[in-house]
Amino acid sequence: VQSKANKYKIAVIPGDGIGKEVIEAALAVLDALASAGGSFVLDYEHFDWSSERFKTTGSYMPDSFLDVLQPKDAIFFGAVGDPTVPDHISLWSLLLPIRQRFQQYANVRPIRVLKGIKSPLADCKPGDLDWVIVRENSEGEYAGQGGRTHQELAIFSRHAIRRIFRFAFEVAEKRPRKLLTFVTKSNAQRSGMVLWDEVAYEVAKEYPHVTMDKMLVDAMTTRMVLRPESLDTIVATNLHADILSDLAAALAGSIGIAPTSNLDPTRRAPSMFEPVHGSAPDISGKGIANPIAAFWTAAEMLDWLGEKADAKLLMEAIESVCGRGILTKDLGGSANTAEVTDAVCTAIKESA
Ligand code: ATP
Ligand code: MG
Repeated sequence: VQSKANKYKIAVIPGDGIGKEVIEAALAVLDALASAGGSFVLDYEHFDWSSERFKTTGSYMPDSFLDVLQPKDAIFFGAVGDPTVPDHISLWSLLLPIRQRFQQYANVRPIRVLKGIKSPLADCKPGDLDWVIVRENSEGEYAGQGGRTHQELAIFSRHAIRRIFRFAFEVAEKRPRKLLTFVTKSNAQRSGMVLWDEVAYEVAKEYPHVTMDKMLVDAMTTRMVLRPESLDTIVATNLHADILSDLAAALAGSIGIAPTSNLDPTRRAPSMFEPVHGSAPDISGKGIANPIAAFWTAAEMLDWLGEKADAKLLMEAIESVCGRGILTKDLGGSANTAEVTDAVCTAIKESA
């Protein structure tokens, strides 16, 4: 019954390039889910914060962005990036200030081989690659410190390391295998990374039911490719996890399927949900972007809001469509964004 539905205030920031296309597709899918008996109602407010806005007004978003976003229950974000603006300018003008100022310190990137999608790894079936990558999202190599005379400074604090490890252990503990792999480079980086290792073993004592193992980041890349089934939950620094999660997405079929949650686990600030991929200027405007990353992101948002049944239903609809071979070009298919979107909406209606 509509009146019993839980209402959430969502800030929608489609951003640039294919961000606009996949967010529009995801809103259609969320609408289909809500009207197919979903237990939620989403109250959207749209924001045109983007490179376009920057080029006409001189800023990506208003100075008041924190006040504007604070009352929201979640932020649904597309992508930022424009061929005419250096990436470090656009990223530091829109996405990173929100992540950092709201202390969305846990960046969660689930990735698995979905039914119907072929991994580039030979014989890799659904279940063989099923990971959650937890990325430290507040400091590390993206602290924004340092300058050109010295190297970019990586900041590691005991406080931030401890909270991301606790978060990662909580994730690992809820998954059947209870296995956490932590990624490091403490053999060569002898300050921050050694602290990272030290805190890992400290926090591990609080979670005796989770098995933890340690991987150097270089060796981790080979393990992901050669023994994907040996991994489950992964925790890594801001930069390491950024790189590993692009690899993970490619191994699961395409960067076009991978979701991200930028969480403030304390729930003091709204969390932000976005596809892993960027604005993809090379394919934007063509209507061929894979919308699955945005759909999966929407499912992660619903899950975080507490709408677990609808999140699950959405994932099942996505997998049933992929299973029927309705795939975009990046996944080896010939469907466009609209066709995949329509198919997922139909699957939702049929399963309701
Ligand atoms: P940005 O500057 O915003 O980071 P980018 O082009 O550097 O953009 P991505 O947007 O992630 O980085 O794109 C990397 C490659 O993956 C591009 O070739 C792009 O076309 C492809 N790609 C990314 N997202 C998708 C998607 N949803 N569907 C299909 N292809 C995608
Ligand atoms: Mg780029």
